[in-house]
Amino acid sequence: AWPFPYEALEPWYCQAERMYQVRGSLGEDPTEPHHSAAYEYPPVPDEAPIADIRARLKRKGLHPFSLPLGLDLDAWLSKARTPWDAHPNARDGKMDAETAALSVALSHENVRLETNARVTRLDTGAGSRIDRVTYVKNGETLTVSPEIVILAAGAVQSSVLLLRSKNDRFPKGLANSSDQVGRNFMNHNASAVIGVSPRFRNTSIYQKTFAFNDFYLSDGEGGPPLGNVQLLGRISEKVLKGSLPQAPEWLLRFITGHAIDFYAMSEDVPNPESRVMVDGDRIILQWQRTNWDAHLALVARLKAILKSIGFPIVLARPFDKRTPSHQCGTIRIGNDPAAAPLDAYCRAYDHDNLFVVDASFLPTSAAVNPALTIAAQALRVADHIASKDLQARDALADRTDKIGK
Ligand SMILES: Cc1cc2nc3c(=O)[nH]c(=O)nc-3n(C[C@H](O)[C@H](O)[C@H](O)COP(=O)(O)OP(=O)(O)OC[C@H]3O[C@@H](n4cnc5c(N)ncnc54)[C@H](O)[C@@H]3O)c2cc1C
Repeated sequence: AWPFPYEALEPWYCQAERMYQVRGSLGEDPTEPHHSAAYEYPPVPDEAPIADIRARLKRKGLHPFSLPLGLDLDAWLSKARTPWDAHPNARDGKMDAETAALSVALSHENVRLETNARVTRLDTGAGSRIDRVTYVKNGETLTVSPEIVILAAGAVQSSVLLLRSKNDRFPKGLANSSDQVGRNFMNHNASAVIGVSPRFRNTSIYQKTFAFNDFYLSDGEGGPPLGNVQLLGRISEKVLKGSLPQAPEWLLRFITGHAIDFYAMSEDVPNPESRVMVDGDRIILQWQRTNWDAHLALVARLKAILKSIGFPIVLARPFDKRTPSHQCGTIRIGNDPAAAPLDAYCRAYDHDNLFVVDASFLPTSAAVNPALTIAAQALRVADHIASKDLQARDALADRTDKIGK
């Protein structure tokens, strides 16, 4: 489904990894594709109980590899001894979009950040270009008319904004002559899988240092792909209580003190009927999971593995649509304007000066965490926008317009 091969994105993956100071180790994951640059930092080390589990999995013939992580461990732990997974942070330890990207962009004199501003509408002018962006800031409605509009509100909100911005000329919404905006919503099929053993004592703080892809390309016996397995950030008593509200404190303490917590993730494949729609002020999310059997098979494999390495009790719970953390795919890229709203550089086929560069563009979701792919494509698109090629083509389009008129 991708309009370009992995090789086109590979240099941008490396650049994104440098930008987000990703720690990792090449050569441990047999499914790893070509990587033209080594990681600049060594991987985040396993804590002792986690190193023990990694060794047990290796003895079973599996290939656990160090998770690539955008994390400065010393800086993180110097502030608080907590896991980082799903913990927000700014400017300390965790290389998030603010720390690694926004703060760098803001160091340039010609970059201004408008905070507390909610974009409510995009408008086209006489032609098809976007000529006005309307936003609300502190109760006041304001507009701006940029030369290029880059929409990056996330897979749900970007499609909502385009659908809500419909006008007489574009009655199905902006960028939507293909009728694909809001469609192909994907979210990984994911489950928390927790192995418990009275004989295992988990004293780790952050836990999340390795993953394995032994069932990524096939089920291990020549069958279909099942997905990725990675450690979760350490599950605390308080987090577990959310899922087991009736359980007494002592039981929750026992489980979390003797458990290892994994995240099993399988691909959700594109389906035009899996949709984000708008109904007045309401947003309707009609997620239709696909590939669920593969996910159940992955969870079953993981349960069996955990039992075989000394965890007699294994609990599993799927994430549902209340936790759509890997949402993507609602404004996909493609080579055919009849089937995709965006070209291979995330430019809207219907509007020359509109780019959508967030998780919406993904034509498939793979079965890996999405943020690095979004960042890599953003860097690729930015380079394309800045390139002379694009400016030359715009000038040509401009001339053609004038000749036409
Ligand atoms: C708890 C959690 C853990 C995760 N862990 C990982 C992980 O370990 N690895 C990984 O790769 N991915 C992870 N993800 C997924 C990752 O965060 C997303 O895939 C990624 O952030 C999506 O990027 P995006 O640009 O599409 O959207 P976002 O990052 O959501 O950015 C959209 C931005 O647009 C703003 N916005 C929305 N609407 C408007 C509007 N109308 N006007 C103005 N601004 C607007 C939002 O406030 C937001 O800042 C995690 C997600 C969650 C929720």
